[in-house]
Amino acid sequence: MRRISIFGATGSVGANGVDLIRRGGGVDDYQVVALTGGRNIERLAQMARDLRAEVAVTAHPELLEDLRAALAGSDVRAAAGEAALTEAAAMPADWVLSAIVGSAGLAPGLTALAQGGVLALANKESLVCAGGLLRRTGQVSGATILPVDSEHSALFQALGGESLDSVKDVTITASGGAFRDWPLERLAAATVAQASTHPNWAMGQRITIDSASMFNKAMEVIEAKEFFGLAPEQINVLVHPESIIHAIVNHIDGGSIAHLGAPDMRHAIGYALHWPERRALPVPPLDLARAGSLTFRAPDEIRWPALRLAREVMAAGGAAGAVFNAAKEQALDDFIAGRIRFTDMSPRVEATLDSLSAQAGFGDDPDTLQTVLHWDALARQEAAA
Ligand code: NAD
Ligand code: MG
Repeated sequence: MRRISIFGATGSVGANGVDLIRRGGGVDDYQVVALTGGRNIERLAQMARDLRAEVAVTAHPELLEDLRAALAGSDVRAAAGEAALTEAAAMPADWVLSAIVGSAGLAPGLTALAQGGVLALANKESLVCAGGLLRRTGQVSGATILPVDSEHSALFQALGGESLDSVKDVTITASGGAFRDWPLERLAAATVAQASTHPNWAMGQRITIDSASMFNKAMEVIEAKEFFGLAPEQINVLVHPESIIHAIVNHIDGGSIAHLGAPDMRHAIGYALHWPERRALPVPPLDLARAGSLTFRAPDEIRWPALRLAREVMAAGGAAGAVFNAAKEQALDDFIAGRIRFTDMSPRVEATLDSLSAQAGFGDDPDTLQTVLHWDALARQEAAA
């Protein structure tokens, strides 16, 4: 039986993963090792009971007793805190879904990678912060990293194992998020509630706001560079409001291969779960007649300055990715808390990059978790409102 763990099981991606495990045969086909979550103790306990997990971990130590109580009478062990997350990641598993949001996903992801097996990576932040470190850790242990982000899963599938030598460049699409068609002058007044609605995808709040600001796509450009080893200038972004084409591989011979599908994360999660096989998944069929037309436009870097910042981060190298991600996380915290406006996020991230670069540069590509966390803390401090 395959041993699997899900980090961030109570979130949007994680819960879809749990749902696929349930439908895919549940406890008869999978031995669930660890499920982790945050403050939603009831949901975590229910998932852990249903899937008969060995351990359930909340990120919050003060909630350990609540989790114990919610698991009373079951065989599931309760644990809490950062160290417990890392311990859970060290438990042998064949397949681990990394679906914690933010750089908090890096430590458990690295620990899981060091055990070998498959790491299904939704946590794009870890590739942005520490792409080289992840790759090297996986190479040493012999682990496989599979993309769960829909655009990267699409690229992976469109490439179909072909060599990058025949790839001219690639395109990842962006819906444009909540404010795609807003007049620019209205953006400064955009509220958290308005930024938290997505036209096509149902996702966690943070990535939904990042879609409105395009920080999500900016991160995904860096993610594509790190995951596939592409050059920055080989990665294009195309605004595609219908979210049907997720990515396109453009070959040197003029042929392009696109990946299409309904905007439903269960496809990318399920693809990674069953890889290298394909199995039927509960995803709506593609209905192009109903879609009628697919439209495209070039991204507007005045509306979405995050895309320009991603190019600058890739050019800078070293710890710039870790700084970019942490400054973005801090700016997002401050926007959600009402401390800054929607349009203040990009300037704040840019100022943090400029200031830390001017102080001492971004150094070498970080090669330990401690180095990444050091830059992460510096950047959050610098970016805080
Ligand atoms: P979410 O907010 O819905 O869920 C996040 C999960 O992480 C929850 O289980 C939460 O308890 C846990 N978590 C949050 N902070 C934590 C911390 N400090 N320590 C430990 N656990 C913590 O997020 P989501 O939308 O499911 O996104 C998860 C990841 O997947 C993100 O990296 C996101 O960019 C990526 N992703 C999401 C989607 C999507 O459709 N939601 C698509 C592509 C990629
Ligand atoms: Mg995506």
